Amino acid sequence: MEQSRELGIYDIPADGWECYKSHRLEEIRNGHVAPTDMRLRDGKIVQYRCIALPDGGRMLTYFDITQLKRIEEILRRHLAAMEAAMDGMAILTPDATYEYLNAAHLRIFGYGAPSELIGKSWGMLYSDKERERLETEGLPKLFRDGRWSGEAVGLRRDGSTFPHDVSLTMIQNGGLICVVRDISERHAREEALREAKLHAEEANRTKSQFLANMSHELRTPLNAVLGYTELLRDGLYGPLPDKAYGVLERVQANGRHLLALINDVLDLSKIEAGELSISCEPFSVPGLVRTAIAAMEPLAKIKALELRVSLPEELPTGHGDERRLTQVLLNLIGNAIKFTEAGWIEVTARVLDGWLQISVADTGVGISLEDQSQIFDAFQQGSNAVTSGRGGTGLGLAISKRIVEMHHGSISVHSEIGRGSAFVIELPLNPSGARKAVS
Ligand code: ADP
Repeated sequence: MEQSRELGIYDIPADGWECYKSHRLEEIRNGHVAPTDMRLRDGKIVQYRCIALPDGGRMLTYFDITQLKRIEEILRRHLAAMEAAMDGMAILTPDATYEYLNAAHLRIFGYGAPSELIGKSWGMLYSDKERERLETEGLPKLFRDGRWSGEAVGLRRDGSTFPHDVSLTMIQNGGLICVVRDISERHAREEALREAKLHAEEANRTKSQFLANMSHELRTPLNAVLGYTELLRDGLYGPLPDKAYGVLERVQANGRHLLALINDVLDLSKIEAGELSISCEPFSVPGLVRTAIAAMEPLAKIKALELRVSLPEELPTGHGDERRLTQVLLNLIGNAIKFTEAGWIEVTARVLDGWLQISVADTGVGISLEDQSQIFDAFQQGSNAVTSGRGGTGLGLAISKRIVEMHHGSISVHSEIGRGSAFVIELPLNPSGARKAVS
């Protein structure tokens, strides 16, 4: 700030002097003029005063206060902005007492007038415990870096507490600028969201538990139905009329389909309830692939599809749950057969950048881009499955994805409508170990 400069009487421009004379001559004669501001024609502002001297003379002083007035105006505007702000703003003295608080600061802490807090310590806006916390957690950082911001729990005038964001900045004279924002609403929203999430998770767990129990209860009698049908077919209860064999076959086929469906539901609900654990044992990768191929060969044959295998001579030992990984591979090969009318299906295994890659490619109907983004979700079937009436439940890929992820791996699809699909599983060669499924 430029210091105001005392002007000699002769520096006063003629018009100012005239103005001065016309208004104040009488007072000067009387020997006293209180400090008075006067705007000169060139825009300058001067403040003058007149004092009577003991010898009967008069002393006139003039100060150029143009700069001071400009700064005063700027400060007035800044103050208006601070008063209009939604956030609480305060200025504290070096001994941490309030020197200024804007309207929002007072409102946030439940006070009516600045006089209730001016000259008081900041500590009266916090409980003893919170004050101690701020002193140990916030203030050292403030003194070290010159600023600190974080969350705090404020104490309103009526004794209630509320969370707020607070930012403290040190200023040159050792005082502080403090800005606060009430975040009660944000906290309430977050709390409501947290509770809703907990409820949803609990409901989901209950649902999964129910499904797991139900599936278990359904499987037992269904296995009995299938078992007795088998015995009937085998003639254990005597010869049956020819017509009955056809019926028994249909009972068996439907029963097996139902059993597969129940098994899928059981698997998925176990995974979602976090109750499915996988083992982490060494296994032979070619062994895994060949087991799945052998199981699927008859199905491929029925549709006259070539089932190819491509394995490099050397493959490292895999680690994981062989039974569950076989289940994944069976699902992928089964789908490939289901959605391919002519051509081949190829299962390939290789190692790439420390990952074991197993892919199942086919020359089938393909999957649209839109369907590709959904088929890994539970109960989602692509439009190809719906339009072709190929049946299925839309659970196989969802289960496969979870199993692969439980091995810290991933599964992806590349496909083009009418040209076929390739599903690729990537598994780490050295997984950190089996873990429980998380819903
Ligand atoms: P499901 O086969 O019982 O319908 P999945 O979860 O195994 O359930 O598959 C989901 C959907 O993904 C299938 O309905 C089908 O639309 C699509 N899909 C999966 N594999 C293939 C494939 N090899 N070729 C074409 N579509 C496939």
